[in-house]
Amino acid sequence: MTIQLITVLGATGSIGTNTLDVVAMHPQRYRVFALAAHSQVDKLFAQCLQHKPRYAVLIDPQAASRLRKLLAEAGSDTQVLQGEAALAEVSTASEVDMVMAAIVGAAGLRPTLAAARAGKRILLANKESLVVAGDLFMHAVRESGATLLPVDSEHNALFQALPAGFDGDLAAAGVVELILTASGGPFRHHTLEQLQHVTAEDACKHPNWVMGRKISVDSASLMNKGLEVIEAHWLFNTPAEQIKVVVHPQSVIHSMVRYHDGSILAQLGSPDMRTPIAYAMAWPQRIAAPVQALDFLTMGALTFEAPDLQRFPCLKLAFDCLKAGGDASAVMNAANEVAVASFLAGRIGFLQIPQLIERALSHSDLSLSSDLDCLLAKDAAARALVSGWVPA
Ligand code: NDP
Ligand code: MG
Repeated sequence: MTIQLITVLGATGSIGTNTLDVVAMHPQRYRVFALAAHSQVDKLFAQCLQHKPRYAVLIDPQAASRLRKLLAEAGSDTQVLQGEAALAEVSTASEVDMVMAAIVGAAGLRPTLAAARAGKRILLANKESLVVAGDLFMHAVRESGATLLPVDSEHNALFQALPAGFDGDLAAAGVVELILTASGGPFRHHTLEQLQHVTAEDACKHPNWVMGRKISVDSASLMNKGLEVIEAHWLFNTPAEQIKVVVHPQSVIHSMVRYHDGSILAQLGSPDMRTPIAYAMAWPQRIAAPVQALDFLTMGALTFEAPDLQRFPCLKLAFDCLKAGGDASAVMNAANEVAVASFLAGRIGFLQIPQLIERALSHSDLSLSSDLDCLLAKDAAARALVSGWVPA
């Protein structure tokens, strides 16, 4: 078997680290071409020593100089690159077979889009790329013939439960609807009164999954599910009306596809991202992943309930933005990123997140941008608006 070269964008994060666990389990199959992060030098340094990539990329210049020095002292051959352009370079290099897109937020869009335009096999964790620029992104994938494989556990489950070779024609495939499961997050039982007082630490204590801080807050507000509804729309060419969300607190069923004949196909597994990562890496084959097997004899009951849009309005906002079309989802995402960062910094309360997003939507031009620069200008304008509303 020929060894496949992988670039990991967001290597130091939760998805990046899980990806490297899977890579380490299959040294005869995968080798790391490049590891990229923002500024976490020590973790990237340790990863470079273990995986010996040809390149390491950091955005922060001081962090890049420090990493260069550390690697030189350790006698490593890894070359350190710095800056945003380098992310695209290591995602499009001709030697690269696959790119794990696991930078958090809209910052992941440019390099992931570059990989799409270069026709790479893209393992997509960075859902914000599709939320911000779904139309542009899917167009690039179709034009270049890139292979887009969903890593997000729900979309990976849907991908597994849809017919092989599904081409986006729901009717021809006999699909009635996609059912996304949601854990409900750490505040599932909180009253509105209690939600006023929750802290960043409370929000980051997810009951089932260990994740980065931004997506943890998104999970707590149900914005993560909202982003995933939009992601499912683009990945599977499915209108909002045919995407349902059900709260399933045990996170055993990762999502389901309902067919015309009454069948519902689900994918089950432990709540461990290494399963969908391994699936995307090896597709259409399967490789082993270092995860604990589900035990049906000790699992207990699987339960289901409707999401509460009163307490968690972010999910409704996302459905509304998807239905509105244009750049509504991009503006929503930008506002959410600033609001979540402000909440994590202790500058606003949890319930202000949806309020700020709604206000940003009502103050922004939501018509569809014609190109990426125009879209990113709108993203920047929405960020500036929300930043201006947040107390210093
Ligand atoms: P983390 O916060 O754990 O990691 C984020 C990674 O992105 C880090 O490596 C960070 O580098 C890097 N990064 C941040 N900003 C930039 C930037 N401007 N340029 C380059 N690199 C940057 O996030 P997660 O791993 O949790 O999430 C990553 C993506 O995957 C998100 O889009 C999330 O929605 C998605 N996802 C995550 C899941 C999970 O279980 N964690 C599940 C499904 C989807 P540094 O460490 O140097 O800051
Ligand atoms: Mg998910």
